[in-house]
Amino acid sequence: MKNFEPILSNNITTELPLIIAGPCSAESESQVLQIAGELNANGINVFRAGIWKPRTKPGGFEGVGSKGLDWLRKVKQQYGMYVSTEVANKNHVIEAVSSGVDILWIGARTCANPFAMQEIADTLEMLSIDIPVLIKNPVNPDLELWIGGIQRIYNAGIRRIGAIHRGFSVYGKHIYRNQPQWHLPIELHRRFPDLSIIHDPSHVGGKREFVSTLSQQALDLGFDGLMIETHDNPDCALSDKDQQITPKALFEILSKLVYRKKDQTNEILNQLRQQIDEYDYELIELLAKRMSVCREIGEYKKEKAISIVQNKRYDEIMSSRVLRANQLGLSSEFIVKVLESVHTESIRQQIDVFRKE
Ligand code: PEP
Ligand code: MN
Repeated sequence: MKNFEPILSNNITTELPLIIAGPCSAESESQVLQIAGELNANGINVFRAGIWKPRTKPGGFEGVGSKGLDWLRKVKQQYGMYVSTEVANKNHVIEAVSSGVDILWIGARTCANPFAMQEIADTLEMLSIDIPVLIKNPVNPDLELWIGGIQRIYNAGIRRIGAIHRGFSVYGKHIYRNQPQWHLPIELHRRFPDLSIIHDPSHVGGKREFVSTLSQQALDLGFDGLMIETHDNPDCALSDKDQQITPKALFEILSKLVYRKKDQTNEILNQLRQQIDEYDYELIELLAKRMSVCREIGEYKKEKAISIVQNKRYDEIMSSRVLRANQLGLSSEFIVKVLESVHTESIRQQIDVFRKE
C-alpha cells in the first residue's frame, strides 16, 4: 500500500490538522443542525454523527437509523460542511453513499471483524465509488488486524484512507477508557508514512477532562487530525455522555493547542517522552493495586491478631527483588530505595486499616 491520498483535497496545502467534530450520535434533527451550525460558524468544516450505533449490550440507544441521513443532508445543504457517519455493513454503506455522506468511518468493533471489513470493501468496490474512508483501530491492540482492515479497503480501490486511533480495550478500571498504546499508531505511521492518522481523544480518554491533553499529545506526535465528540448538552447525551464536550469547550481547547511543525527530531523526542509518560502512569496504577492488596492483608492480620511487621518476609522481599533488579540492569542502591519507600507506605496503609473500626 503506497498510494494513499489526503482525506480531503483542501488538506494538502495546509499544515493544520484536520478537525472532525460532532455528536457521538445524531439524536434529533434540531440537535444535529444546532451543533453543526455552531461548529461551522467557528471554522469547522467536517461534521460527524453516528446514526447506527454499535452498543456493548442490548437495550442501549442504538442510534436513530436511516432517518438521520436526512439530517446529515440538511447539514450539507445549510452549512456546506462535509458530513461523516459510521458504517458497519453493506446496507449502511449503500444508504450512506446514496444519501450523499461525504466521508465514511468504520468503528473499532467492526475493524476487529474481517468478515465485516470485507463486506464493506466489497460494497465499495461494487458501487465503484471514490469516497474517503476512516478506519478506527480494532478494539484489541492488534496492529496487523488494523493494517489488514486498511488493506481490504485499499484493495477495493479507495485511496483517501485515514486511520483513527481511538485506543484499545483492557479489562478493569483504568485512568483512560481505552489505553492509548501510542506505539501502535506510531508504528503504523512508520510503515505507511503517507497514510493520514487521526487521533480520537474522546474515545481514548472516556472523560471530557482528558480531551485537551490527549489532543496535544497527538499533535506533539505528529498526528494529522483529531476527531472530537461534540454535543450541545453533553450531560444529557444518549451515548458517551461523559466524554462529549460542548462546541464552546471545543473552540477553547482548539485555540490553546500548539500546532507543531512536523519536524523529525522533535517527533522522535516526543515519542520517547510519550513512552515515559505511559510507563509513569502504569507505575502509579500498579502501586495503587499493590497498596490495595496490602490493605486486604491488613484486614486479615487484624482479624487474626497478627502483627503488621514481619521481618522475615521483609528480608525475603528485599533480596529476591534486588536480585531481579540487578538482572535487569538496575543498581541495588536504587531498587532498595524504591522498595523501602514502598514498604513504608504499605505499613502506613496497614496501620490505617488497624485503626479503623
Ligand atoms: C463512535 O465514534 O462513536 C464510536 C462508536 O467509536 P468506536 O468505534 O471508536 O468505539
Ligand atoms: Mn461515541
